[in-house]
Amino acid sequence: MARLSRRGVLRGAVLLGGAAAGLAASSPASASVEQVSIASCGAWGARPPSGALTIDQHRPNKIIVHHTALANSTDYSQAHAFQNSRDIQDLHMDGNGWVDSGQHFTNSRGGWLTEGRNGSLYALLHGQTMVQGAHCVGQNDQAIGIENEGTYLTEQPPAALWNSLVAFCAFTCQQYAIPPTEIYGHKDFNNTQCPGLLHDRLPELRTAVAGRL
Ligand SMILES: [Zn+2]
Repeated sequence: MARLSRRGVLRGAVLLGGAAAGLAASSPASASVEQVSIASCGAWGARPPSGALTIDQHRPNKIIVHHTALANSTDYSQAHAFQNSRDIQDLHMDGNGWVDSGQHFTNSRGGWLTEGRNGSLYALLHGQTMVQGAHCVGQNDQAIGIENEGTYLTEQPPAALWNSLVAFCAFTCQQYAIPPTEIYGHKDFNNTQCPGLLHDRLPELRTAVAGRL
């Protein structure tokens, strides 16, 4: 793939339309994966970070899949996804004392994707840098963290969540040139049950993502 020219196209798109279109940068002409719709922090009413965020001047080299370990809601609306994002941010800022949401992105049971930590969407659309996260000890300056709403220790996620996870991972792999083999689960790095049954499905996820690229 012509990486240099793709970057050139991306930069051009950002200069021409970035400000007017908010954060919706155009997909590069050479891209094979369609840009996923991700609601920005502004769209779901995120709080500003309580302190400075670190922007790492390099691309992430992997994606780490999480589940939130919260309730398996049957409300599949976008409004619920936005509320879920606000709840997670409150938990991380007020409960954990973090400067912002720990994860870069969130995926709801209805398949709605939202930005987590402020600046993560801008970084993803430009494909050159990453916001340092707080989702996996030892990997926060290397891995994009995607939180999937729900608890999947005994129950499988809904199809809508799975489908948006595949689409998100494919787009993220494309933007950052991450090989689909570099999609992991939280328990690969830390002592946790996260992401439950989703971890067993990582081979299926990698194959599905590879099929999109
Ligand atoms: Zn996790």
